[in-house]
Amino acid sequence: DGTARRRDTYYAATLKKFVPFRDPIVFKKGSMQYLWDAEDNKYIDLLGMNVCISVGHSHPTVVKAAQAQAADLTHCTTMFYHPVPAHLAEELAATLPKGPEWVVHFCNSGSEAIDLAMTIARTHTGNLDLLALRTAYHGPTAAAQSVTGISGWRHPGMPGNVAIIPEPNQYRGIFGENAGAAPYLDEIERTIATATTGRVAGMLVESVQGYGGIVAMPEGYMSGAAERVRAAGGLYIADEVQSGFGRTGDHMWGFEADGVIPDIIVMAKGIGNGFPLAAVVTKREIAEPMAEKFLFHTYGANPTCCAAGRAVLQVIREDNVQENARIVGAELLKRLEDLKSKHKAIGDVRGRGLMLAIEMVKDHKTKEPDRETTAAVFEACRESRLILSKSGPNQSVLRMVPPMCLSLDDVDEVAEGLDRAFSGLG
Ligand code: PMP
Repeated sequence: DGTARRRDTYYAATLKKFVPFRDPIVFKKGSMQYLWDAEDNKYIDLLGMNVCISVGHSHPTVVKAAQAQAADLTHCTTMFYHPVPAHLAEELAATLPKGPEWVVHFCNSGSEAIDLAMTIARTHTGNLDLLALRTAYHGPTAAAQSVTGISGWRHPGMPGNVAIIPEPNQYRGIFGENAGAAPYLDEIERTIATATTGRVAGMLVESVQGYGGIVAMPEGYMSGAAERVRAAGGLYIADEVQSGFGRTGDHMWGFEADGVIPDIIVMAKGIGNGFPLAAVVTKREIAEPMAEKFLFHTYGANPTCCAAGRAVLQVIREDNVQENARIVGAELLKRLEDLKSKHKAIGDVRGRGLMLAIEMVKDHKTKEPDRETTAAVFEACRESRLILSKSGPNQSVLRMVPPMCLSLDDVDEVAEGLDRAFSGLG
């Protein structure tokens, strides 16, 4: 129908780089964890359309809520009162740890929210220096790029005052396998002492890194990082864009695994189940100094997107979504471990809940990343109608972040499809 030709002609080069399969798939329909292409082939969407689809493609509760709101009043800009975003702010605050007085600033995308979190931290503390992790991904805007450690995502002209520090990767981090949190926490202290003014604005941490290749923060890291950053005058900023909304299975928010209460929490993707919506949630006193100047996003708190957001929270509350992520994720991880013992291309399998990954290596000792095998398995999975994502700084990780309604039957299909893909490597 000309879609591929039009896309290839009119999309800019950067976007074309992401055409994932050798022959393009044109999608036309989605329902829950499944997608259908123009030829009516059915796929399991293990990518959740980039982690945006939290409760299911075109989930009827979400679609109904957004349709009703769009028909009533599609848009009402942030400076006016509207019940839907006000309700959503209250409901989001209720999902967070008790104690602080949480306040919400709505915007449209994860990177906008990251930019805003950086500005809030710098305004509140009066400090400029921020810390971020080497395999972090925080978004495409200039400010979000500046805290994105992976070099392939960094372009000329990013703002400065950012110190990039080693990620506590328990498979291939600089301190070796299963080194725990301690040496990486020392690294935070060393970095603050040597690469900053000594007074920091904050540190950004994904509770489980997404594009970095599913790197979960080890026990004690998030709370230890918060302690060290606060000692230097800074704030702990949790990027929950991928790891939030119950995806890690055990908790609604990834940071809860470590009992840390962040100063600022960044939410996007799953909050809207595909509708463009994001939020920065912070403590009332931290948000206050921002009010001395103007800042708002034209579409922030858009009632149609916020109606979708409210429906997402309702489905998460009522349909045991987090519990399903925990149970189905644990089973999928078990099946990935079986695959690891069978196929030597697999160096590591890891993750929490429905944030899982397989990492490919050329050699188990040297752990040299195997980008080619990753690409071949990704391509072969298409035959089994599985959509995955190549990620990690070396594109040697297959990431699985499906809609959280993935079922145990799907797990059988995924495990069999992956097995066929690895077995066919030749
Ligand atoms: N933070 C994380 C952890 C992300 O994965 C992403 C997007 N992949 C962003 C921030 C940026 O979000 P957006 O693309 O909506 O700007």
